[in-house]
Amino acid sequence: MATPTTTEEATKSGPAPFESWGRYPAYNATVLPMHWQGDYPGMLDGIHGGALAVGMGRSYGDVCLLKDGTLLQTTSMNRLLAFDPNSGVLTAEAGITLAQILDFAVPRGFFLPVSPGTKYVTLGGAIANDIHGKNHEAAGSFGNHVPQFELVRSNGNRMLCSSRENPDYYAATIGGMGLTGVITWAQLRLKPIVSRKIDYEGIQFHGIDEFLAIKKQYSHVEYTVAWVDCLSTGKNFARGIFMLGDHSKEPGELKISPKPKLVFPIEAPGFMLNKFSIAAFNTVFFHKQMKAHVKTVQDYEPFFYPLDAVQKWNRMYGKNGLVQFQFAIPWEHAKEGTIAILSEIAKSGLASFLAVLKTFGDVPSFGLMSFPLSGFMFALDFPIKEGVTFPLMQRLGDMTREFGGRLYSAKDACMTSDQFKAFYPQWERFARYKDPAITSSFWERVMGQEGDR
Ligand SMILES: Cc1cc2nc3c(=O)[nH]c(=O)nc-3n(C[C@H](O)[C@H](O)[C@H](O)COP(=O)(O)OP(=O)(O)OC[C@H]3O[C@@H](n4cnc5c(N)ncnc54)[C@H](O)[C@@H]3O)c2cc1C
Repeated sequence: MATPTTTEEATKSGPAPFESWGRYPAYNATVLPMHWQGDYPGMLDGIHGGALAVGMGRSYGDVCLLKDGTLLQTTSMNRLLAFDPNSGVLTAEAGITLAQILDFAVPRGFFLPVSPGTKYVTLGGAIANDIHGKNHEAAGSFGNHVPQFELVRSNGNRMLCSSRENPDYYAATIGGMGLTGVITWAQLRLKPIVSRKIDYEGIQFHGIDEFLAIKKQYSHVEYTVAWVDCLSTGKNFARGIFMLGDHSKEPGELKISPKPKLVFPIEAPGFMLNKFSIAAFNTVFFHKQMKAHVKTVQDYEPFFYPLDAVQKWNRMYGKNGLVQFQFAIPWEHAKEGTIAILSEIAKSGLASFLAVLKTFGDVPSFGLMSFPLSGFMFALDFPIKEGVTFPLMQRLGDMTREFGGRLYSAKDACMTSDQFKAFYPQWERFARYKDPAITSSFWERVMGQEGDR
């Protein structure tokens, strides 16, 4: 359904499905567009049942959903407000997307300090989930590059938040899942570049030990990520491609990216995704890079955002959607934990497309509830299969807990209340900063408050 453009239209059309990227769970909500920084909290007048600010809905589970509630969609509040080319500090409204920021910044010789795997996320969403990129070891997470923002509370308080002003709200809002209020604008410290190009190397590996050896050898490279085939067993267990890149130092073209033309055309029927079709895809992907080691120069788009080339690719999973399992495990258990989890997945017979493996460094996050912890980070997408997917998610969540790790709320649809409270023991301190008019289906689930509104 098209998003209504005025509050009157939205209120008249009433609740309608609003999907996160995983398309699971499927909930109705009334979507109210925010156009102006002053819209909140007045736009809540006469509204019951809680509200939640949302951006592009690119989170996977229910962190951006509010069942039968009101979603305040910020994407029409997307103006650039100021830019200082000397410091690289950009000020913009929270509904601007990272794609829009890149269109402005790249021709001026600047780039995002931290990039997720899609550029179709908003500035507010990136702060609220304190997202990470391929350069966590060098740069930390997104919030580390946000010197200040404005947070508006449902009592009308407008708070400037930085490490000096309202530092508690600053920390609670970075990675605070939208629960502390509405971010209206924010500053972002961009980094200088001289070209769109990335000096790229792709290296095949077989197993976690080879992955770790390559990582050590290339510790000077800023961006690193690996795609792992987690269906293969035996000598091919945890084979993958290690992808490394640095912004090219050779001055080159600095133009805007073309808009993507491909759209995933249909809702794929669920049966298309099975162990055999996914194994075949993974094998083709592994061998797509014909040589064991490739060195080349490539544009930043395919390096940072390969999945953005096909819009709506989540339709590939059909109407039932998908769940993502994304965990971080500290170094001391990273290898054994990852092998145990991959073996459990292989045993379940549930297939995942190539999984993403990154490493987190020890740059501390500014956010109270931020996900990164120094060690391994793994992300796997699973189709929803009756009787198999959810029990597996429970087991994998418990294993992550045993290995001292945690799951990422931005990608979650399955964590239990016990798991959440163990992963984020600081949750009670965080809850003190929650805006009483704001909630989410994620929060109600992990607090055990479903149906309480
Ligand atoms: C293909 C793909 C790849 C991805 N890769 C990565 C990755 O590499 N690293 C990573 O960390 N994440 C990644 N993500 C997840 C994504 O970056 C985050 O979920 C991001 O927060 C989505 O932003 P959004 O604008 O879509 O926000 P939404 O999903 O709409 O909302 C996310 C959260 O932000 C809150 N929020 C949004 N706007 C505001 C506001 N103005 N004020 C207060 N709260 C607000 C919402 O309440 C919600 O809790 C990926 C997602 C996809 C689809």
